[in-house]
Amino acid sequence: MKFYQSKLLNSFSNLTHCFTNKQNGNLAFHVNDDPDRVLKNHQNLAQELDYKMETLVHMKQIHSNSVHIVTSNDTFYKPPTCDALITDKQEIPLMVMVADCSPILFYDPKQQVIAVTHAGRVGTFKNIVKNVIESFVDDFGSNPSNILACVGPTICQKCYEVGKEILQEAEEKNLNYAIKQKDDKYFLDIRCILKKHLRENGLNENHIELSPHCSKYDAKFYSYREDRACGRFAGLISLH
Ligand SMILES: [Zn+2]
Repeated sequence: MKFYQSKLLNSFSNLTHCFTNKQNGNLAFHVNDDPDRVLKNHQNLAQELDYKMETLVHMKQIHSNSVHIVTSNDTFYKPPTCDALITDKQEIPLMVMVADCSPILFYDPKQQVIAVTHAGRVGTFKNIVKNVIESFVDDFGSNPSNILACVGPTICQKCYEVGKEILQEAEEKNLNYAIKQKDDKYFLDIRCILKKHLRENGLNENHIELSPHCSKYDAKFYSYREDRACGRFAGLISLH
């Protein structure tokens, strides 16, 4: 099984991380897939990456900007409702699931804190990145200049046409720098907003990695815009 991995995060031997793809199968229980098959996909992934499946925390993602600090109440079978998870606990893999939305993995090697974030158009417009960095700082004593972030495979600007109402919303939020007009069509660059938000919240330029892979263009990944009935691939990170 070959995973897409972050060059930034790969240099730490006390971290496990990856972005899965279609070969790993669908990992989401809410997309009308056979639950036994989804479970099997999770078991296979756990075996491949050498963690106990039951220790993994994923999320009931709701396109919010809400960050959840992992507690012992969070289990594989009882995912918290939120769009970001953060922890300094070892051997608790965190997972974000996507199909075109942006999966972001975070690591502060100084304070030994990890986080995952689900940033779709809605969460990005709500600046979920800001809340995640604030949690690093306020709850775990991080200095933003130490934090590393990798935005995984996500839909690229060329493939992401949006309507005029999104342009309008972007203008209201001063995010219209991320929209390109071509003829009478509008194209949104989510990665560009995420990078700006990461920079604005104190991350160093060289601590930000953007995957070049487009989830819609690259058939290895699930894409909601390509197939509304598709599964979800995942970003995963775990501390040892
Ligand atoms: Zn694309």
